[in-house]
Amino acid sequence: MSWSLPIVRIAGIQLRIHITFLLLIGWLAFGYYAAGGSAAAAGRVVFILLLFVCVVLHEFGHAFAAKGFGINTPDITLLPIGGVARLERMPEEPVQELIIALAGPAVNVVIALSLFLVIGPAGLMSSVSSAAMEGRNLIAQLLIINVGLVLFNLLPAFPMDGGRVLRALLATRLSYARATQIAASIGQGCAFVFGFVGLVWNPFLIFIALFVYIGASQEAALAQMKDISRRLPVSSAMVREFRSLPADATLEEAVDALLATSQHDFPVLNEHGAVAGVLTRHDLIAALRRGDPDIRVGDVMRRDIPTVSTGTRFEEAFRIMQECNCPAVPVLDSMKRLVGLLTPENVTELMMVQSAMPRRRAV
Ligand SMILES: [Zn+2]
Repeated sequence: MSWSLPIVRIAGIQLRIHITFLLLIGWLAFGYYAAGGSAAAAGRVVFILLLFVCVVLHEFGHAFAAKGFGINTPDITLLPIGGVARLERMPEEPVQELIIALAGPAVNVVIALSLFLVIGPAGLMSSVSSAAMEGRNLIAQLLIINVGLVLFNLLPAFPMDGGRVLRALLATRLSYARATQIAASIGQGCAFVFGFVGLVWNPFLIFIALFVYIGASQEAALAQMKDISRRLPVSSAMVREFRSLPADATLEEAVDALLATSQHDFPVLNEHGAVAGVLTRHDLIAALRRGDPDIRVGDVMRRDIPTVSTGTRFEEAFRIMQECNCPAVPVLDSMKRLVGLLTPENVTELMMVQSAMPRRRAV
């Protein structure tokens, strides 16, 4: 995710903070300072930072549960609306998805219980009504917000954890695609209710409604793609007409190819005609900025790009594409010759074509 700063790396997971999150903290601190002076502002900001520590721990709950099923989490990003743990791939079994989804809210349950043990029922009752953000009051407010996080996250709407729990439960009886469709519809229904309540009560809910609506739609599209990709081999959707570059081509030749075609990324071939890597538009532009006339395509291409074969199932190829974060994956035939390219754009096109002809059986 762009516009985010890497903060620390914990257990192989990069924690990132989105710029808008820092802006939010600054804006709130300024607001509190203007309203109540530096002591009030400090208390409030400490509270918000502690709240986001709880959100980070929640995301680590998902990440560690996923790790238990062999799924890595490359990064966790903090946004003003909460945290996002980016899993390397989606779990295969409904029960795995269920456990990963519940692990996040379970962390907040543990935090809330621990805080409750610290202050006890009397401390909680006497502190909730106070506005001062220090000592016992701070703990009581944190306890309440953790309970709130659990309830909010368990709403049965994508992209909240509750939406995933619902889908996982439905998927034990229905197909994955059907389960997602139902869960996404419920999510969109919830979004309309939030939006309506937001209109009359709190405008912030409209913002959440939008977030839920978009999340539900994305989830439905992803599930549809997964369903299609299970049935088709890579050869049914790869790009067959494309330009490749020799490793010793100059950057000018690469620029010519970039401008003359609609391609962004070019497979690079070595002197034997085998795939040596992929030149991305991004790397090409970066190399041009350095302005070294002796640089060749082979010096700036990405070498860590995996390849797939024509017979590879789409689902497997899509997983490989997600895991390497590659813009394009070369497709080889049984003789290891380059015969195609797989890009996110043609995956999207395949989806559009397939959903336009729902009754035609795929290969
Ligand atoms: Zn969660």
